[in-house]
Amino acid sequence: MPLDAYPEHILLTPGPTPIHPRAMHAMTRPMLGHMDPEVFALNREIQDDLRVMYGAEPEGFTALLAGTGSLGMEAGFANLVEEGDEVLVCANGSFGRRMAEMAARYGARVRLVTAPLGEAIRPEDVAAQLAHGGDIRMVAVVHGETSTGVLNPVPEIAELVRGTGALLTVDAVTTAGMEPFHMAEWGVDYAYTGAQKCLSAPPGVAPVAISERALARYAARRTPTPLWYCDFEGLRDYWTRHTYHHTVPVNLHFAFHAALQAALEEGMEARQRRVQQVGEAIVSALKPLGFSPYVRRPEDRLPTVLALRLPEGFDDAGVRQALRKREISVTGGLGPTAGVIWRLGLMGEAARPGPYRALMTALEDILGERGLVGRFDESLDGVLV
Ligand SMILES: *Cc1c(COP(=O)(O)O)cnc(C)c1O
Repeated sequence: MPLDAYPEHILLTPGPTPIHPRAMHAMTRPMLGHMDPEVFALNREIQDDLRVMYGAEPEGFTALLAGTGSLGMEAGFANLVEEGDEVLVCANGSFGRRMAEMAARYGARVRLVTAPLGEAIRPEDVAAQLAHGGDIRMVAVVHGETSTGVLNPVPEIAELVRGTGALLTVDAVTTAGMEPFHMAEWGVDYAYTGAQKCLSAPPGVAPVAISERALARYAARRTPTPLWYCDFEGLRDYWTRHTYHHTVPVNLHFAFHAALQAALEEGMEARQRRVQQVGEAIVSALKPLGFSPYVRRPEDRLPTVLALRLPEGFDDAGVRQALRKREISVTGGLGPTAGVIWRLGLMGEAARPGPYRALMTALEDILGERGLVGRFDESLDGVLV
């Protein structure tokens, strides 16, 4: 089938997001070897740009891992946790629980801080655990919990962790690259995301940032990192010393480089603004139908994953299937929120009026309702997106 015969598909999911046109173009660049000087120069730019995106200190280390966001998560525990370490994991959703499971597999004694579904982790609960005694070696938290659309208070948690001797690991998958992220200023030691979320690059690389403090913890390990593929020293062999470690996915580096540059040129404040504006337009279009925010407290709402409670009696599966027939993908809830909510992605290129106007047009048709597109446009009228 010729490429242009494939239909345009509109991805409104909380990842993957539509690929940025510049990233798409960069992927068609002729292949180069992973040891080519031009690739090393491009990698260098990626590392510098990642420092800017994460707000990382110059002494820290940034790189791409050859895998998705979950590999970024796993590499942090593999390199920074040793058998018997106490790790405090904030788990108020499925990605927080994934962190706890991974930490345990690398030998951690895991302590949990939880919160009711749809609510943020309370800093008081983290403080209570830290005051509990013991020797907590790491605190781990998901910044934006994709499974529920909850934003956890990372700066407040970071302030509590600072000075305790524990490292702070932050899952920045739904925030970094779309909203200002201040790794050094907040005191974050390890952060990761996935290329296919806020940066609208193809899936397959996980950008990570490691603080100087975390590198020192790694250097003091009693035993080698059990995950050879992502051993921090192995990464530095390739990214810093330019020796062979493993074959990096060069074409994905091309695409990621282009997507990251586009994001930095736009600026995080501008990206944050368009997330907010499109989010408000969606809510004002859908509210009269009975959709309402799932997360009760406005300060707990994650702007990049809009979780909306469905109207009473809404045919979740049927409507999403009808949307899929029109080449529009929307994501429902997970586990206990299945059939209860929709999770609308506002990361990267999804946070634009075009794709969501297409959703409103399709919903008018499927539901036999009027006014969705009008309310959507009215909300965006006069604002710069
Ligand atoms: C998507 C996601 C991940 C996992 O990323 P994969 O790329 O699917 O491996 C981790 N954390 C959060 C918060 C996510 O949204």
